Amino acid sequence: MRAGAEIVSDEVILDAVAAEAGWMEDLLVRLVEAPTTLGNEEAGQRIMEEAFIDCGLEPRSVALDAEALRGAEGASPFSWDVEGKRNVVADWPASGSGGRSLILNGHVDVVPPAAEALWTNPPFRAVRDGDWLYGRGAGDMKAGLAAMTVAVRALESAGYTPAAEVQLQSVVEEECTGHGALQCLLDGARADACVITEPHPDHITVAQVGVLWFHVELSGIPAHAARASHLGFNAIDAAVEVLAALRRHEARLNDDPPPPYDAFEHPINLNPGVISGGDWPSTVAATCTLSCRIGLYPGQSPEEARTGVEAAVAEAVAASPRLAENPPRVRYDGFSCEGSAVDADEPLVQTLSGAYARLHGVRPPALATTATTDARHFVRMGIPAVCFGPRGEGIHGIDERVSLRSVVESAQVLGLFIKDWCGLAPGRKEES
Ligand SMILES: [Zn+2]
Repeated sequence: MRAGAEIVSDEVILDAVAAEAGWMEDLLVRLVEAPTTLGNEEAGQRIMEEAFIDCGLEPRSVALDAEALRGAEGASPFSWDVEGKRNVVADWPASGSGGRSLILNGHVDVVPPAAEALWTNPPFRAVRDGDWLYGRGAGDMKAGLAAMTVAVRALESAGYTPAAEVQLQSVVEEECTGHGALQCLLDGARADACVITEPHPDHITVAQVGVLWFHVELSGIPAHAARASHLGFNAIDAAVEVLAALRRHEARLNDDPPPPYDAFEHPINLNPGVISGGDWPSTVAATCTLSCRIGLYPGQSPEEARTGVEAAVAEAVAASPRLAENPPRVRYDGFSCEGSAVDADEPLVQTLSGAYARLHGVRPPALATTATTDARHFVRMGIPAVCFGPRGEGIHGIDERVSLRSVVESAQVLGLFIKDWCGLAPGRKEES
């Protein structure tokens, strides 16, 4: 039995969270102003560590272990150094019994600003305008980190403890491999459910695609541009030919999507994200690298996705004798991950949906996303995981922003959910 669940009223929880709005905004501002791009996550992790301590918790570090990650199921290839990187994890210990344990997970890393000159304000300055707080990472997903922390902080300071443990995880590398979350699982993190507070407002995300990053290395034959047509072979032109074949591959993948992706017009997106090549306008480009991201349907393995990409590149080669003489090489570095899904009937989804409905008056839809999140790692380990969190806009774009009211409301829903899922018992205040 979830002792004490009946004696905590929803109103007490909603008020306790609302009372933390100032603390939450202050945490969010500090997080946004820490430019936690890949390799620079530590400034954000220090802030999260302080925040957990300020909630009366005892955070610990879960260091990334390159060797363990490389050997782990669900890992992606990576060429960069992870030495010194860590997740920050804090347990809110259980008192009592009978509840269900919970992981609340958020990532501290952010993607680069895309094009700083296009931003109205500098991307790593937190600027408030009415209900909106602007800055890279404000939505994706520092607001989610703030919301999950405040949910626990508010319940804790109102004098409650959970009947089953709640673990808060602030992880790194969600935007490139998911190895922060994977490392937490390698470290032994387990729970009856996981909620990732990604910016998925007013719905619960139950299915996601997988993602493959691949890099096509093209080589050309350098020559003076004036004689390019008969002497040289341009690696940038070669990249254009390969990209055209990859676009045809993408179109085929979107021909007949399996459910739940049949509800989307174009669920599988190929994104040529980075292209670099050549060294002089009047020299035929000798090299070019085309770095792309493509989605995978749940059930499709990263290996199958690789085979598809390589077949598309081979198609370009078959159509071009010059490309055949200078064959492209496909390299994998970063995301190589499967999609995942949880059943909308899962107790996690139903309980979270019920908590949402008590604040907002309606049950939120359970939806699929055409992006990936760390949820797949938990699902692979048998831990049902969904995404739910604040309202962000401009994610991975410019002038990213988050609705501060939605951060408070997400934390309120999480507070109600913790009551229902974990159970709440009178905590330290009653015992002392
Ligand atoms: Zn995210």
